[in-house]
Amino acid sequence: ARASAARRSRGPGRTADGHHVPLLANVGGPKDLPAALENGAEGVGLYRTEFLFLDRADAPTHEEQVAAYRAVLEAFPGAKVVVRTLDAGADKPLAFLPAPAEEPNPALGERGLRMMRLFPDMLDAQLAALAEAHRDTEADLQVMAPMVTDVEDTEWFAATAARAGIEQAGIMVEVPAAALRAAHLAESAAFFSIGTNDLTQYACAADREIGTLSRFQDPWQPGVVELVALTAAAAEGAGRPCGVCGEAAADPALACVLVGLGVSTLSMGAAALPMVRAALAAHTLEQCQAAATAVRAARTADDARRAARDALPGLA
Ligand code: PEP
Ligand code: MG
Repeated sequence: ARASAARRSRGPGRTADGHHVPLLANVGGPKDLPAALENGAEGVGLYRTEFLFLDRADAPTHEEQVAAYRAVLEAFPGAKVVVRTLDAGADKPLAFLPAPAEEPNPALGERGLRMMRLFPDMLDAQLAALAEAHRDTEADLQVMAPMVTDVEDTEWFAATAARAGIEQAGIMVEVPAAALRAAHLAESAAFFSIGTNDLTQYACAADREIGTLSRFQDPWQPGVVELVALTAAAAEGAGRPCGVCGEAAADPALACVLVGLGVSTLSMGAAALPMVRAALAAHTLEQCQAAATAVRAARTADDARRAARDALPGLA
């Protein structure tokens, strides 16, 4: 019994009726690998690469980058490893680049892919290091860009990754304009990964850093749920995988709702994996879909939470 309990708490993500929902880990560097492996991550859904670039005077060397990426790829032979290209901006400035212009609203400024389009050599160097790190490993390397807004961004990133020899190039959906046009973006993105932290910030026009706005920093907000639904449906229509890698994926009830909306993978901080695995195992796909329908019909975020609880019996 103990062995099977351990298997249940470590095995792949599955609904009660056996629908596989890969449960992936968010990692910020090789230091996060032990927790990801211990908690049974089926791969990495978000490798935040900022740690290599921030708080230092010089850009990381090619060798440094290769070593950091290879450590993560080697930990997951045969599994998916999604690496997010550098997500820096005025709020996370890089000492080795020209000082960014003063921005009154850094969240709405030159960040993420926008900054890489200003300094394309940096993105080329990162992608070259990733391609080299991937050589001689068994991992399924996928790259994705943060802060993608439109078809032009998507095409530019996919073409840049292809030039580096990386064919699996997807995008984070965290700008509402991208969610609204997901069907068009899917034509040049290999996959979507919804970043619900920023998607919520931008959909509700509520800065993530301002504590008094917490009512709006809530992925249960009906407007956010609707953008997720739209994105998942567009991905399904285009035959593209669609994950969620924001905090929403770590909420057991919301994780079930996301699966019901058509999200295909969930990525989260490793500590949340066992609870989300248990919540999925306790409900069928049909129950998740019914919960999603009830949540979409709810008028407020609190009503949505209650509707999900009612539709998903037995959640702690
Ligand atoms: C997000 O925005 O949801 C996300 C996963 O990225 P970050 O929290 O690093 O902005
Ligand atoms: Mg984000």
